[in-house]
Amino acid sequence: MSKERTLGEDRDKTLGASRERTLGVLGNGQLGRMFVQAAQAMGFKTIVFDPEAKTNGVLSPAAQVSSGFVNAAFTDTEALQSLAEQCFAVTTEFENVPAQALAFLADPALSVGVAPRASAVRIAQDRVLEKAHFASCGVPTAPYYVLKGEADIATVPPDFYPAILKTARMGYDGKGQVTVHSADALQAAWSGLLQVVCVLEKRLPLASECSVLLARGADGHTIHWPVQRNVHVDGILATTEVELNESPQEAMLVAAAQKIATDLDYVGVLCVEFFILADGTWVVNEIAPRPHNSGHVTMDASSMSQFEAQARVTAGLPLVQPRQHSSCVMINLLGDRWFEGVDSASPREPDWARVLALGSAAVGVHLHLYGKAEARAGRKMGHINVTAATLAEAWQTAASIQQLLR
Ligand code: ADP
Ligand code: MG
Repeated sequence: MSKERTLGEDRDKTLGASRERTLGVLGNGQLGRMFVQAAQAMGFKTIVFDPEAKTNGVLSPAAQVSSGFVNAAFTDTEALQSLAEQCFAVTTEFENVPAQALAFLADPALSVGVAPRASAVRIAQDRVLEKAHFASCGVPTAPYYVLKGEADIATVPPDFYPAILKTARMGYDGKGQVTVHSADALQAAWSGLLQVVCVLEKRLPLASECSVLLARGADGHTIHWPVQRNVHVDGILATTEVELNESPQEAMLVAAAQKIATDLDYVGVLCVEFFILADGTWVVNEIAPRPHNSGHVTMDASSMSQFEAQARVTAGLPLVQPRQHSSCVMINLLGDRWFEGVDSASPREPDWARVLALGSAAVGVHLHLYGKAEARAGRKMGHINVTAATLAEAWQTAASIQQLLR
């Protein structure tokens, strides 16, 4: 049992006895925060469960807004049991939560709804299992090799390079990835990653990147949002754009994402990332068994946000196909913006008043900040959604915002 454990500390007074109205979430980041806010808007109380829900007296982005929190390890079964006593259903905001925690909570004796299921999270958190699932769905991926032992390196043909070495587990935002141009470089890079199980993917010529966000209920009913087009900088999402109308290729991506979800018998919000290649063909990249950074556009451009959908699925409430009412550009706000034009190490809050003044009757400018105590380079601090009738209009204002924040 974790010594750090503090059950519902600070907030337990606000939690009444009504387990039937309380939802739990594993994880304490911004995705958990926005889930909590959406769940609360629907009248639920929430409990955030994370080993760092509170660190050195500072509450995490999700714990700050939650009705209650549990500061305990994901392997702390006593604390999980207590969570189950306080919540009628539990979800997760990140995929690296141990699948055993979800499996533990799913014990019928606890009578807690768990979405997504441990079986789906187990696949999504392991690139080897994930790719095998895509193959079983008949959905194309980048060519790849699995590296488990020294001998596997010799099986990679010379014309396979350049290739990207990715750890099978625990990667995010481009972390745990190295581009290699030869077998020697692969050998060195793999040693650098301590020879954990990896996949080696052929580096493909990308024309663009897309994601499809969907939500699937326990009854199999599935809803989806229009395809999101994503631009990454240094492996981290920089902007997402979404239009009102779907192209024929985009309809194919949606069908592939639905197949991937159905064959997993997935329950919850799922994001499927795709690469569009220079020759116009496409492959699936990876899945996230939770709301996704690219899906933040749904918060202001759709009749249902990804977080409301997560609250609905978790609580067993109906999903209905959302209506996209605006085109949208999302600008991710990384901590770097807090240091621009500042020559010292002390960050400065960007001038939000000037950003917000760029909105108009035709263009919505929606600021979302995650309440993180400290700005750091590469850290996701918030995002801005710019909504308009057309993507061109949204981009015009988004460009002015980028200019202002530079
Ligand atoms: P993460 O879990 O960090 O999001 P991804 O596998 O999505 O890892 O890779 C991060 C980014 O790296 C992708 O969004 C893409 O820009 C680039 N990338 C990853 N794999 C490939 C590939 N096989 N070919 C070309 N670019 C790639
Ligand atoms: Mg990715």
